[in-house]
Amino acid sequence: MTRVLLAEDDLVSSRLVQAQLQAAGYDVMVARSGDEALRLALAPDAPRLLLLDWMMPGLHGPEVIRRLRRLQPDRYRYAILLTQRAGGADLLSGFESGADDYVRKPCDPRELVARLRVGARIIELEDRLRASNMALARLADSDPLTGLPNRRHLLTELESASARCAEQQRPLGVAMVDIDHFKQVNDHHGHAVGDRVLCAVAERMRGRLRDDCTLGRFGGEEFLLVAPNADADAITAIGERLRAAIAEHPIAAGSATVSATISVGVACREPGVEISDAELVRSADAALYDAKRAGRNRVCQAWQESEADGPPALTAH
Ligand code: GH3
Ligand code: MG
Ligand code: MG
Ligand code: MG
Repeated sequence: MTRVLLAEDDLVSSRLVQAQLQAAGYDVMVARSGDEALRLALAPDAPRLLLLDWMMPGLHGPEVIRRLRRLQPDRYRYAILLTQRAGGADLLSGFESGADDYVRKPCDPRELVARLRVGARIIELEDRLRASNMALARLADSDPLTGLPNRRHLLTELESASARCAEQQRPLGVAMVDIDHFKQVNDHHGHAVGDRVLCAVAERMRGRLRDDCTLGRFGGEEFLLVAPNADADAITAIGERLRAAIAEHPIAAGSATVSATISVGVACREPGVEISDAELVRSADAALYDAKRAGRNRVCQAWQESEADGPPALTAH
């Protein structure tokens, strides 16, 4: 049932319009003043079709609309003013407040219902437009193969996490992850299996992370993890958890079963330390390279000196 918020201070007129709308199948919520209308309309699941008397004690109709538009610009309402005013400059000021339409009092119920139908249609269109914009934004932000955030989105996340952590004097951890010998997976099993392994690795890692971390596909078979509030120990533990998650079971990819491993480079910025986001990522990448050189399937820390022959890695297998 379509819901309408009716605000009208005149009791007789209010009852009449309410009865007319109910007869036409509307669910009517009634307010007796502009202030009450504003309060009711701001509630999370309030009706989005508004029928507001122009002249009311306290906030008049146009002012209710103006405030609603300002307070909740992202939640569209279709607002119709009820007016005894003749037109001209007065009506223009009503439209300037953000009204979508007006109806003269006393209202012809058929006209009122017809205009409310227009409003309901516009709200529906607005909702569909908003939903498709959101779907497009999601597509633009995600990697089509794995569904993870893509590089562009990752870098935006890194920027905002970095700013938040700096402001709150918190550490920021990042991890660069790369699948080991992935070219061999493609060579032995074909690209389609390679794709499935890539997706399975992404999904397994995602399943081991807290919600405040962002894991995305940085490119190819490389992933970047942004972990707000993760200090050196925390980001190392997260890296190790990801490594173990991939190494512990082979991945079933169609008819093939593939034993995959990942190498991880972790870096961390403690509060007050002046290094850029790009440097932080570069140092995680350098640590990843250390992990590769040290034999793969391990986590290396950016702050640890790498040794050519010794074990710089945290986990040696
Ligand atoms: P390393 O342990 O040194 O990382 O070895 P590697 O073989 O993983 O590294 P290399 O950089 O030589 O090869 C990366 C491979 O990843 C080559 C490329 O074809 C493959 N790859 C990158 N993106 C995709 C993808 O989307 N799907 C598939 N199937 N393969 C991909
Ligand atoms: Mg009035
Ligand atoms: Mg690789
Ligand atoms: Mg690589």
